[in-house]
Amino acid sequence: MRILLLALLFLSLGLSPRSDLFQVVTSHPAEIEELNPYVETVHKEGRLWIVELKENVPEELFHHLRPLNGDEKSYIFKGLVLTKASKMSKDTIRERLSLVNQTLIMNDIKNLSSYQTRYTGTKENQKALSELKVRLTGLGYKLTEDCFGPGKCNLIAEKKGFEKPQDVMIVVAHIDSVGEENAGADDNASGVAALLEMARVLKDYKNKSTLRFLITNGEEQNLLGSKHYVETLKNSKDTVTLALTMDMIGYNDNNLVELETNVEYEDLAIHFAQSAALYTNLKTKITLGAWGSDHLSFLLQNIPSILVVENWETRNPCYHQACDKLDLLNGNYISEITKLNLGVLLQKDL
Ligand SMILES: [Zn+2]
Repeated sequence: MRILLLALLFLSLGLSPRSDLFQVVTSHPAEIEELNPYVETVHKEGRLWIVELKENVPEELFHHLRPLNGDEKSYIFKGLVLTKASKMSKDTIRERLSLVNQTLIMNDIKNLSSYQTRYTGTKENQKALSELKVRLTGLGYKLTEDCFGPGKCNLIAEKKGFEKPQDVMIVVAHIDSVGEENAGADDNASGVAALLEMARVLKDYKNKSTLRFLITNGEEQNLLGSKHYVETLKNSKDTVTLALTMDMIGYNDNNLVELETNVEYEDLAIHFAQSAALYTNLKTKITLGAWGSDHLSFLLQNIPSILVVENWETRNPCYHQACDKLDLLNGNYISEITKLNLGVLLQKDL
């Protein structure tokens, strides 16, 4: 079966099956520059980048590459909307989603991008994180920190589930930026603002399983923070049923949002796509073959994880530049993505 699928993929890519093909899993410009002399692009579509290796790839570069599974693909979701939720629970979910407040989200993005920098470890980055501590404590969440270096910390806000406290759903967004001045609005003040709004909307919701909000740092340094955090999960008795990452959810060209994971979690991506169809006006694209954000750290530990990201083929033209500012972002799009993610969490918690 695997061979057949491989053959099908290569047919659709117009390639013959070969074992020397890899997917690039980093999006870091410096790392891509390192890799470039050793790889030849075979296929590039949105977030799916498949390469053939030239000779003598240094061993230390191999962690930026993943052998091709064969089922990697990217497609617009047009499936039927099937859901276990009854009409009553759908109405209850819709009622809660109507609490999402676009003005609050945009204010948070404005505030987070007013810091001179949010580069990991800087005083300003720490100040931004402290401000979020106050906010999340005020909403009634229990806070902890997970530090991976001096002044380099992830922030975790938790509300225990009353029925299945050992089952944990995690919402993830990175607060650090690449360091451009007063920027990083889309990458990733947008994701953090949506996380804060989800925390606000759920503050008095009686969750059956545990809800955890994880604000990571060091994402722009090869996912340092999330990699450190998933290590801490190894010693815990919790079962993480979902890690939902939001990274760059603000730039909208065609109302399309990308749901990205690895091939084994296609059903989870479809669940997200159905939630989008049920509760929002968004179109969805499913991409199987994860790379370049915090969801990778979870997937590497076999934790079901999805990245929700703006459509990568029409991504923000100011990606990783000083012009990544609020004025390029679309408030309605961010609010709809917030509702999609809330819809998924509430439906999973039924
Ligand atoms: Zn990012």
